[in-house]
Amino acid sequence: MADQDHLGEFEIIARYFAPLATESAALALRDDAAVLVVAEGYELIATCDTLVEGVHFLPGDPPDSIGYKALAVNLSDLAAKGARGHVYLLALTVPRDTPPSWFEAFAAGLRELQQETGISLVGGDTTASPGPLTITITALGLVRHGHAVLRHGAKKGDRLFVSGTIGDAALGLRLLKDPALARGWDLSDQDAAFLIDRYRRPKPRTELVIPVRNFAQSAIDVSDGLVGDVEKLARVSRVGVVIEAGNLPFSPAAQKALAREPALLASLLTGGDDYEIVAAVPDASVAAFAAEAKGKGVPVTAIGRISGSGGAVTVMGPGGEALTLDRTGYAHF
Ligand code: ADP
Ligand code: MG
Repeated sequence: MADQDHLGEFEIIARYFAPLATESAALALRDDAAVLVVAEGYELIATCDTLVEGVHFLPGDPPDSIGYKALAVNLSDLAAKGARGHVYLLALTVPRDTPPSWFEAFAAGLRELQQETGISLVGGDTTASPGPLTITITALGLVRHGHAVLRHGAKKGDRLFVSGTIGDAALGLRLLKDPALARGWDLSDQDAAFLIDRYRRPKPRTELVIPVRNFAQSAIDVSDGLVGDVEKLARVSRVGVVIEAGNLPFSPAAQKALAREPALLASLLTGGDDYEIVAAVPDASVAAFAAEAKGKGVPVTAIGRISGSGGAVTVMGPGGEALTLDRTGYAHF
């Protein structure tokens, strides 16, 4: 069987996905559906994200990184709501000639993140198509009734925080498309590998679930670009936001590139694929939030403030002038 180069749908599920279905609720992927028990007093937090080859990852990306990323982007949405992942469903649409080695590596990427976060697979669908490789994951998290953190809820005066560093993945994508940029940006091989890894294998900020739930009034994960995603939070909360560009957290690799090409600032702010968490925290909880995040090993940086009403986001440059951006984030249409 190992050298067989074509597998049926049933064999693919049994061989590569059933081992990831460790909860009894999944019925070993041998039934029509999963049967989930929801503990009393809890709410299910549901989210769904699709990755399309050529849009969210590149045709040459390693299949294990594709599996990892497909699950990571969903766990990132859950983390922004203050929820840990519980179970997920996987809808996979692949070219007919996809070899077993691809499924094996793809499943290994999923397994790696399952082991890091405790989530498990409970179902899905597997189809072949002439179109591009497409992966849709639906993830479910659990939060005690009424405790989910929403985009809505930021209040004037709140401090705006972001986790980790911003813009690495946007640079990583540029490097994948044009490796010669590394030289112009003065990057070592390690710097370039770091940025590419941030694009291919985003780490969901699962460790922030409790600090976000305890202290944030409002939160969103950054998937389409920092400024555009902050704008979404601002609109729903009906507030204005001022971001101070001088306070933004950039990795050492991004700082090098930025020093060589200052115009990259706009890409870092709007490029997307960061999968960091933005949280609005009231002044009284700022110290506790920062301390708890640090205790969980996640750096968080205050980057701005909720200023007023109206849903506008202003980015102030280091000299105190408002920056003009051509676009605020990635848009599919
Ligand atoms: P049906 O035709 O009744 O929808 P399937 O044969 O498609 O059932 O699926 C059988 C079982 O395998 C179901 O429990 C389904 O959730 C699961 N399954 C199918 N594809 C996947 C996948 N890619 N990942 C996880 N579970 C899957
Ligand atoms: Mg089916």
